[in-house]
Amino acid sequence: MEIAVISGKGGTGKSSISAAFASLNEQVVLADCDVDAANLYLLFDPEQEYIQHFTGASKAVIDQNLCTNCGLCMEYCRFDAIHKKDGNITISQIACDGCQLCQRICPQHAINMISSSKSSLQAGSFRYGQMVYGRLAPGEENSGKLVSLVRDKARQLAATNHIKTTIIDGPPGIGCPVISSITGVDCVVIITEPSMSALSDLKRTIGITNNFKIKTQVIINKFDLSKKLTDRIKAFCRITNTPIAGFIPFDRHFVGAVVQCKSIIEWAPHSSSSKEIAKCWKIITQ
Ligand code: SF4
Ligand code: SF4
Repeated sequence: MEIAVISGKGGTGKSSISAAFASLNEQVVLADCDVDAANLYLLFDPEQEYIQHFTGASKAVIDQNLCTNCGLCMEYCRFDAIHKKDGNITISQIACDGCQLCQRICPQHAINMISSSKSSLQAGSFRYGQMVYGRLAPGEENSGKLVSLVRDKARQLAATNHIKTTIIDGPPGIGCPVISSITGVDCVVIITEPSMSALSDLKRTIGITNNFKIKTQVIINKFDLSKKLTDRIKAFCRITNTPIAGFIPFDRHFVGAVVQCKSIIEWAPHSSSSKEIAKCWKIITQ
């Protein structure tokens, strides 16, 4: 069974709850698909048993031996990636979109498109089974493709280790990497919280999971921070026939757990939030 945990809005507690879900299993595959900011490996410190370098999008690089500093490329770059510095034309690898326009128009053929492979996919065993995660280097693109590779590796690990449950910690947002995280899963769990921005993102996220006809459940984290907004989320879920698996209270134990590199289930197993998360997991997997 593959379960994807997503949130739309960042900061709702998605990764903490994914970690807690993993801790409720003896054997699980945990796939951290938040490749722009993977952090579950910091919490669980897996053995690094597998590494695959990932080649991101090509970026423009100037051969300074050929460049005459005519400035034509700088004039045409729509992404403001090309600047003159100390008399030389340079290209920011962070800002470059890889559109190749500068390469095509350079009269000196001084620009090459070069792919870097600083990003990687890593995997290994951890205290609840197998873990796989992608690490996208700063400024690298193609995160949707890296998410797909993480999911492929997770499936392979599940098959070879005879593990029945895979938990996917998806990226925030509703873009291509999120779609890559949820396609083909058995269930999506959306972690939301009582705030206007979270409610707005919840509406868009449920729209996506409905489009893909994926079984979806909602967990309202920190529900006790605003009764009014929690009621609005409940009303929206009712209208869209989206079941709510549970309501997790605001709990400072989450902070303590992160500081100690533990999940909340490990750090505060008898807290009301741990009990509620365990109840949610039962509902989601039944
Ligand atoms: S267009 Fe070519 S020659 Fe002109 S500044 Fe750019 S890289 Fe240099
Ligand atoms: S490839 Fe495109 S985005 Fe990158 S520097 Fe050249 S023109 Fe700008």
